[in-house]
Amino acid sequence: MKREIFVGGVGIGADHPVSIQSMTNTAAQDVESTLKQIRQLKNAGCDIVRVAVPAKAALPAFRTIAARSPLPVIADIHFDASLALGAIENGAHGIRINPGNIGGNEKLKAVVRMAAQSKIPIRIGVNAGSLEKKYQRTGLARPEAMVASLLDKIKFIEDQHFFDLKVSLKSHDVRETVAANRLADRSCPYPLHLGVTEAGTFFSGSIRSALGIGSLLLDGIGNTIRVSLTANPVREIRVARQILAAAGLSRSGVEIISCPTCARTSVDLIPLVAEFEKKIARLQFRGRVRVAIMGCEVNGPGEAGDADVGLAFSRRHGFLFKKGRIVARTDADGGLARLVEMLREMQEEKVHG
Ligand code: SF4
Repeated sequence: MKREIFVGGVGIGADHPVSIQSMTNTAAQDVESTLKQIRQLKNAGCDIVRVAVPAKAALPAFRTIAARSPLPVIADIHFDASLALGAIENGAHGIRINPGNIGGNEKLKAVVRMAAQSKIPIRIGVNAGSLEKKYQRTGLARPEAMVASLLDKIKFIEDQHFFDLKVSLKSHDVRETVAANRLADRSCPYPLHLGVTEAGTFFSGSIRSALGIGSLLLDGIGNTIRVSLTANPVREIRVARQILAAAGLSRSGVEIISCPTCARTSVDLIPLVAEFEKKIARLQFRGRVRVAIMGCEVNGPGEAGDADVGLAFSRRHGFLFKKGRIVARTDADGGLARLVEMLREMQEEKVHG
């Protein structure tokens, strides 16, 4: 089990659930747009948000954002230790630095000292693309070189008696990311933040992230995750939640089980499932619910027997089932509405019962 840290009120490591992060992509000095995006991220299920502080001019805006944000805010800093100091002074709930590009050991010491005084954690991020030259020349394979760099930085920071650390090892190469994190998991006691960096567009990036992050989560590795996509950050949260659900780690939400359709399919299932996904996107769920939508009543209820609730179709009817047992019948057109109604009732029971 990893050491426990807190970013604002969000616990990380120990036995805390895996938390979801994203990063705003609004202009650094545009307070209102940034706060609006943070609220959207929160509504989508994000736990912690990262905001880049690219220059000193962004610090006043950062101060307001950190104070008014409904999520804990981590300041993302590169190249300039004074920006890390400024972000901490201006209310960051955590900072993310790459110790290799922060300007040398004395500057790193100053950042660590101020984080300790302000009682906020530091994430040390080592990225394959910006690995320090001396580690590139070691002759080690890249995952090993990344971990060597990380362990040296950890040692230096621990020597300052600072232990509120989280670490990340990212590469755009999925295998490299997985290998480096497996190694780091065995080598250090700090929580791990997982992500495949610069993963790509919504479609390909989601697949690469699911493969990389998912492989590690299935090994029991990882305490926070970020799906990094060339897309609206809110979409990152949707993908992150699906990855957690598929790994059996989600705390709430709907997991949809739907069949791929075949010659037995009795209705136009594909748009029906898409419509269902849209309908439930606005519902807030307490706990996890598995919902099945299947194209025929012959195989449907049996194939989706472990779903909490489901719908299977014949040409004329929709059959609603719970745990594989048929509990109601509607006409085919009314099946979806009844399924959504059943879900609402189940949620009501959870709230009141
Ligand atoms: S559940 Fe029925 S319709 Fe769907 S793929 Fe299986 S056999 Fe075909």
